[in-house]
Amino acid sequence: MSKPNPFEIAQKQLDDCAKILNLDAGVHEVLKHPRREFHVSIPIRMDDGSIRVFQGFRVQYNDALGPCKGGIRYHPDETIDTVRALSAWMTWKTSLLGLPLGGGKGGIICNPKELSTGELERLSRGYIDMIWQNIGPEKDVPAPDVYTTPQMMAWMMDEYSKLTGSNNFGCITGKPLCVGGSCGRGDATARGGMYALREAANELNIDLSKATVAVQGYGNAGSYAHSLVSELFGSKVVAVSDSKGGAYNRAGISAEEAGRVKAETSTVANTPGAKKISNEQLLELDVDILIAAALENVITRDNAGNIKAKIIVELANGPTTPEADEILFRNKVHVIPDFLANAGGVTVSYFEMVQNTMRYCWSFDEVYQKLNERMTAAYQGVLAASKKYDINMRQAAYTVAVARVVEAMKMRGWV
Ligand code: NAD
Repeated sequence: MSKPNPFEIAQKQLDDCAKILNLDAGVHEVLKHPRREFHVSIPIRMDDGSIRVFQGFRVQYNDALGPCKGGIRYHPDETIDTVRALSAWMTWKTSLLGLPLGGGKGGIICNPKELSTGELERLSRGYIDMIWQNIGPEKDVPAPDVYTTPQMMAWMMDEYSKLTGSNNFGCITGKPLCVGGSCGRGDATARGGMYALREAANELNIDLSKATVAVQGYGNAGSYAHSLVSELFGSKVVAVSDSKGGAYNRAGISAEEAGRVKAETSTVANTPGAKKISNEQLLELDVDILIAAALENVITRDNAGNIKAKIIVELANGPTTPEADEILFRNKVHVIPDFLANAGGVTVSYFEMVQNTMRYCWSFDEVYQKLNERMTAAYQGVLAASKKYDINMRQAAYTVAVARVVEAMKMRGWV
């Protein structure tokens, strides 16, 4: 069976929201399409002297609320429709969090695991060489996403600074601290998700200190979620996974152990004392909390009915298909939807932009406090909308976010 197209899913979600908000047909049509997109071919000199050309994209979905904002993915299966979907979700995410930013996303079709450090640097700089005139602090500010790192953001910022002839730290976020990064950006996505989880658990009367947790995906989002859910709430993580498979131990798996095993053997599946399980099995485990922190389309109509978790925290973008959403809602599984659950990343990226503009650095505590306030307010706003319209949390998040974008478009005279 072919994989669902993420952009079709994003459009279907928007269609549902348009019905709930009784949106004007023309306004709905405007929101269904990215305002601008760039397709680039990036020639790179490989270490063996040959030249390879990589395909890259940057999509600026909607900038009614401010400059576009969104990460850059390096992935062999990257497609323009994935980038379009992710840029749409960024638009709703920045709006939902009340940030003065629009939504964008970028990607390069490549397998970073097969490229040397030098090749990755030339690719990162080459991407900026192709798009620099269309990005910048007042236009579009990229950031890291799947398989891109703070080091790559530093190369990109440096390339943009060279091309513009000034130290332009605010052109990219997710940078290392020494070149304009923000305290708290590293674990911001997971931390924001944990603040949302705390609110959901309060609402559902779940004691997180006694809760069991499964974490799918063990990159930036998943690995920090593992340590934070233990550190902040004392919950027990019983299963973890990455692209090579998963590990399950009813007695609990510590973040230190899983991190060490991943560093030494390149996969958490080798965690000692744990049973090897597949990613599919992990999703259906009898746990209280499921943290989806890998990629899109992992919870579908085929497995949604078997999910036993009471709360799903979607740190990944688009892990649940619309059919699965309906099944989960019917089964009273409380889904914290992606563009709410993982909004901590872009929120601290926004803080990074603000600090770059002010040439000032906030402490970890200031960042955490501001993030906590924004995530709590956004969660409560979505919960209130879900109760008001008797709709699921994703539909509720859409109504709040889309209404704000529409209001800005109207005020600007676009529609
Ligand atoms: P990452 O590159 O750091 O890690 C990705 C992880 O997913 C790796 O551990 C990889 O092994 C695993 N993975 C890949 N394919 C998998 C599969 N089929 N099954 C299970 N695991 C698989 O990426 P990340 O930054 O942690 O991003 C993960 C998700 O979170 C993505 O959907 C991303 O868009 C989303 N997200 C990340 C951020 C951020 O700040 N990092 C912000 C918002 C959303």
